[in-house]
Amino acid sequence: MSKIQMKTPLVEMDGDEMTRILWKEIKDLLILPFVDLKTEYYDLGLRHRDETEDQVTIDSANAAKKYGVAVKCATITPNAQRVEEYQLKQMWKSPNGTIRAILDGTVFRAPILVNGVRPTVRTWEKPITIARHAYGDVYRNSEIRIPGPGKAEIVFTGEDGAEIRQPIFDFRGPGVVQGMHNLDSSISSFAHSCFQYALSVKQDLWFATKDTISKTYDHRFKDLFAEIYERDYREAFEKAGITYFYTLIDDAVARVIRGKGGFIWACKNYDGDVMSDMIATAFGSLAMMTSVLVSPDGKYEYEAAHGTVTRHYYRYLKGEETSTNPVATIFAWSGALRKRGEMDGLQDLQDFADALEKATLDTINEGTMTKDLALLYEGEARAVNSREFLEAIAAKLR
Ligand code: NAP
Ligand code: MG
Repeated sequence: MSKIQMKTPLVEMDGDEMTRILWKEIKDLLILPFVDLKTEYYDLGLRHRDETEDQVTIDSANAAKKYGVAVKCATITPNAQRVEEYQLKQMWKSPNGTIRAILDGTVFRAPILVNGVRPTVRTWEKPITIARHAYGDVYRNSEIRIPGPGKAEIVFTGEDGAEIRQPIFDFRGPGVVQGMHNLDSSISSFAHSCFQYALSVKQDLWFATKDTISKTYDHRFKDLFAEIYERDYREAFEKAGITYFYTLIDDAVARVIRGKGGFIWACKNYDGDVMSDMIATAFGSLAMMTSVLVSPDGKYEYEAAHGTVTRHYYRYLKGEETSTNPVATIFAWSGALRKRGEMDGLQDLQDFADALEKATLDTINEGTMTKDLALLYEGEARAVNSREFLEAIAAKLR
């Protein structure tokens, strides 16, 4: 059998612990037998990040910028305990944070649906993708506990010394006050990433804020989205048969619950934090959530939403059998290969990505799955270990 050829390399970002073990098995069993895989390999495993003083993370993000498509394994974000465990020179920053800062991107999270695991919300038939703005608002706030009577104001002092002043409240007793900010540049990048991603998956885009109450702050989000849509995307959206839809956040919540799914929901930072956990939980399992970082100029980095599954890794090291779910990592690979195929005009690579996802879902829908899914599954489930699961998918794929 001749293998599928690639033109441009994928940027491959290897990672840590259990997901690093799965990473190699996915490649060996599901990709290398079928694709003449071209990658530019970066080892983001914690040891190598430490050896390179984290330069490898920066290099990998720049490579993603250059080539346009990356696939990333889950990585450890060091804390004090990890510094000890790995004898690190420093508590290196979160790789995802570093990559996101370099690509200036937005993260889109979508669940993978299978027949036997039904969403908590009965009406949902298709995935709902959450796009969370990852800059500013309450996450970069400044707060004061007001001790007693007095006047609180917001003051902006321009570089020329000119002041803009607004009263907040005349306190008669103790209370609290908070100031926060966002940037036109960040909101615009967020908007571009959302419109780009909607076009790339051909799904409607929803966006919601509370602009009726926050007439300047939230309204700025609404206006920037509307301007960018009219100027850069309306034509392409109409051609693709998709819509951009703006509404109030409370109306959006009601529509999401009544709806069938199959759209992208763009959220401000706090809304995205809360809603992504709600959506993920209601769809079933963290092990079935995909994640893709999209930059405003259309670069893509695919990964699983879960971490390195440390607890399973420690069992694996003791020689125990593990049943870790590789589905989200498989979909990171298929997503990246499909996107590479689209960018390079390689239909057979895109078809392979479809076949890989279908083989994975068919395996589960026919009752073979890892333990975590078997627990949620309604019906006869055969729980297998990771290796057996991957072999079952490989057999289907062949
Ligand atoms: P985690 O790796 O997502 O795992 C948390 C728990 O969720 C696991 O112990 C397991 O539960 C279950 N789980 C998650 N993924 C699973 C899968 N594929 N198959 C089966 N079960 C799965 O989160 P964590 O333990 O909080 O974090 C571990 C490490 O990952 C940390 O060092 C953290 O920094 C890193 N992390 C990285 C990323 C990323 O790179 N994007 C994201 C999050 C966390 P049971 O043990 O009950 O089976
Ligand atoms: Mg959260």
